[in-house]
Amino acid sequence: MFKKILVANRGEIALRIQRACRELGIKAVMVYSEADRDAKYVKLADEAVCIGPAPSPLSYLNMPAIISAAEVTDAEAIHPGYGFLSENADFAERVEKSGFTFIGPTPENIRTMGDKVSAKQAMIKAGVPCVPGSDGELPDDPALIKRIAKTIGYPVIIKASGGGGGRGMRVVHTEAALINAVQMTKAEAGAAFGNPAVYMEKYLQNPRHVEIQVLADTHKNAVYLGERDCSMQRRHQKVIEEAPAPGIPRRLIEKIGERCAAACKKIGYRGAGTFEFLYENGEFYFIEMNTRVQVEHPITELITGIDIVRTQIMIAAGEKLPFTQRQVEFKGHAIECRVNAEDPYKFIPSPGRISMWHAPGGPGVRVDTHVYNNYFVPPNYDSMIGKIIAYGDTREQAMARMRTALLETVVEGIKTNIPLHQDLMVDSKFMEGGTNIHYLEEWLTHRTPNKR
Ligand code: ADP
Repeated sequence: MFKKILVANRGEIALRIQRACRELGIKAVMVYSEADRDAKYVKLADEAVCIGPAPSPLSYLNMPAIISAAEVTDAEAIHPGYGFLSENADFAERVEKSGFTFIGPTPENIRTMGDKVSAKQAMIKAGVPCVPGSDGELPDDPALIKRIAKTIGYPVIIKASGGGGGRGMRVVHTEAALINAVQMTKAEAGAAFGNPAVYMEKYLQNPRHVEIQVLADTHKNAVYLGERDCSMQRRHQKVIEEAPAPGIPRRLIEKIGERCAAACKKIGYRGAGTFEFLYENGEFYFIEMNTRVQVEHPITELITGIDIVRTQIMIAAGEKLPFTQRQVEFKGHAIECRVNAEDPYKFIPSPGRISMWHAPGGPGVRVDTHVYNNYFVPPNYDSMIGKIIAYGDTREQAMARMRTALLETVVEGIKTNIPLHQDLMVDSKFMEGGTNIHYLEEWLTHRTPNKR
């Protein structure tokens, strides 16, 4: 096992990884930007290294600074967390070439999965069902593009191969609008992602976002840890996640889960990963794979009792998965609310000093956050300041506990989206379960927020 790991991230996930290291008796080196100097996990760290000024390109995306920090502190491995450099194949490669272990998959796997066309091709080969679409990148010939769309059937969606974060997509309903849409998406993709390649998929009208968590070791073992329903989204960004996904028959989850685990073995995947699917009319359609730990990993931890971050570290150290698929048991229900520093209905970021912070507690409540009384939320990064997670024997109990947890939470000095979560936790359709990816956006256009 490693003696020392460098955590190349910030915020709640940096603290989460630090906790896992402590539990394993590993020293954690924390890196921080000038904006995060006062973070408690930096103060609590075994060692901490400032890697640059507040803007991420100068600090959390600064590869040489991070690798130098690992060198000067004699760390053996680097955990990239999520976001920032976590899915950057060049970074993983540089980490390994510099003699450190990258806590994640091989650079080759990251590269394949980072390009959506190659990811889809790899998945089709591995027997994972995908959204019907073009066979790889779209050709230049308009007549051929029209023929492809006709075969798939309208509406179709044009997607950038190098796209991410919900950008680089365009829905097309008629042949008349097709060629123009393809050209516009290509131009945008070239400018935004440095790669003009686009592909075409059938546009599913009312799907749910259901994803499968996997863990694979370097000894040819791979397991799936069930699913998460992340359909509650705004602008393709997840707001609430839950596990298991309400109303999906277990045999369907088992079938798709087994396919994902088999695909991991086939491509030689190692570490934690997530296969993202759209789920409609009882069918799963692969859309992309995330080759890192997810924000929403705690809900899976709560229903399986498996510590995903700890297991990532063990896998990177060359250990075997300490359980088999048959030993993975699913129990109860978990829900996660992402707490963002933003106006709850205008969605404008609200950074600044938290004058008062009180976290909820009680049975089945977990709070993953790095904030505390008097913490200053810097304006430079993502607005998520933490996650409230509730567990119960049933979905109803998890929701009841979440309602209490949200009521107990006190955040003063900045605005948060907690009022939005409170409204959603009493929404009759959400309480029924199984709402689709468009639900939250439609809900937002139809309602006026409760006065609080
Ligand atoms: P990104 O990498 O930008 O997150 P994804 O491919 O994961 O892109 O898609 C993000 C979201 O876009 C999905 O969760 C879904 O809401 C929507 N989407 C993507 N592809 C389709 C499709 N074929 N049909 C309907 N919606 C889609």
